[in-house]
Amino acid sequence: MSGWRRRQLLAAGLSLTATLLPRTAFGSPLKTASARVVIVGGGFAGATAARYLRRWAPDLHVTLVVGTDRYWTCPFSNLVLVGERPLDSLEVHRSRLAKGGIELLRATATGFDPEQRTLELADGSELRWDRLVLAPGIEVLPEAIEGHDAAGVERFPHAWQGGPATADLARRLRDVPDGGLVVITVPEAPYRCPPGPYERASLFAWWLARHRPQARLVILDANDRFTKDELFKDHWRQVHGDRLQWFGQADGGTLRAVEVRRGTLHTDFDDWRPDLACVIPPQRAAAVARQAGLDEGRGWCAVDPRTFASRIHPDIHVIGDAAIANPMPKSAFAAASQARVCAAAIATEFAGQDAPEAILGNTCYSLLEPDLAISVSGSYRGTAAGIEALPGSTGTSPLDATAEVRRAEAGHARGWYAAARADAFGD
Ligand SMILES: Cc1cc2nc3c(=O)[nH]c(=O)nc-3n(C[C@H](O)[C@H](O)[C@H](O)COP(=O)(O)OP(=O)(O)OC[C@H]3O[C@@H](n4cnc5c(N)ncnc54)[C@H](O)[C@@H]3O)c2cc1C
Repeated sequence: MSGWRRRQLLAAGLSLTATLLPRTAFGSPLKTASARVVIVGGGFAGATAARYLRRWAPDLHVTLVVGTDRYWTCPFSNLVLVGERPLDSLEVHRSRLAKGGIELLRATATGFDPEQRTLELADGSELRWDRLVLAPGIEVLPEAIEGHDAAGVERFPHAWQGGPATADLARRLRDVPDGGLVVITVPEAPYRCPPGPYERASLFAWWLARHRPQARLVILDANDRFTKDELFKDHWRQVHGDRLQWFGQADGGTLRAVEVRRGTLHTDFDDWRPDLACVIPPQRAAAVARQAGLDEGRGWCAVDPRTFASRIHPDIHVIGDAAIANPMPKSAFAAASQARVCAAAIATEFAGQDAPEAILGNTCYSLLEPDLAISVSGSYRGTAAGIEALPGSTGTSPLDATAEVRRAEAGHARGWYAAARADAFGD
């Protein structure tokens, strides 16, 4: 490996310490300069993997199958909901990805054959691959809630996959009358962006306080604890008082059923008929990652966190929200970090080297108000047994921080967002 390539890996936070990883853990090695890596999904995980593979293994042929033509980021979408950012500022221009020598395919993958090493596309064509990287994100499951289904999402919007649904939910918030009730329901973990529902609740409460001061916000939560819960709850208590209430699983907060036509939500003890119900459905890995037994029927895909190779088919890697990567959350920050580890593993395998030690990182910023934020962060090591937090590396913002510190964190959040977009999409 050249000194230049070593420096590139180090710059991405990847140590070059040789690991005990047996070569067989990769399946058969990549042999030729014409080897082809096909990546499915052009979100934070897939786009980052494609760009780093091109950088670290320029001889490799990299094809990125992006599915839908347009992509809007979910990070910062809660700001769009409260009118503090236009939706089009979240749109990523994927054509810029093609400039880096990535073959960009606007196609949907329908399946793959791990033995023949082919990927099937919706138009009936097939792509041959030497390594397949699946980064398709999530699928939402409204039908997992009694009485709910895809049609019911119009009545109970979630906007959990970005794009125009975000603008629709923003309009629905503006339609809430003063004195009205807004409910956000949170599914049982794991789901995409663990702090996301609480950031949304904080920003909704901020908006309601300004524009509908008599309105109330209720969070019905299928969990009893959540990330940064002390920080969120402290802010809600101090700023919103009784206008924002949170009911956890032990308080009967789990959503049990809905009646779409009547607009009613049923929990263990109560029936709610809000003016706006934002029902975030349970989730699982998107369909293409649940084929050929990759998810073992569990909804999410088990991987070796040293390489993000599937535990079921080692020539196939799964990164981002679709993978099981506890204790890392399902975040864009984590997805990009996993993508770099995966790209480094494939690039070094191609170069006949051992994979570098897998060091992973995450920071989740959450906005309490458009200009106040808190965060949780951690660094991790991928080992044969799983992902372990590096001692002393995890932490959250202090509970007693001043408004100046919270404002500084909001600035860091904006900086992270700009840098993450540039790194993933060249955008
Ligand atoms: C409200 C909200 C706020 C958030 N805020 C933050 C934040 O501040 N910070 C943070 O780090 N994370 C945040 N997240 C989480 C973040 O959005 C996800 O973790 C991240 O998008 C995961 O990246 P991914 O590449 O795995 O999936 P995605 O970004 O969903 O990308 C997957 C892509 O694959 C495509 N695809 C799916 N199936 C196929 C197929 N068969 N063929 C081709 N393409 C396919 C999809 O259409 C999609 O474009 C937030 C999420 C939400 C909902």
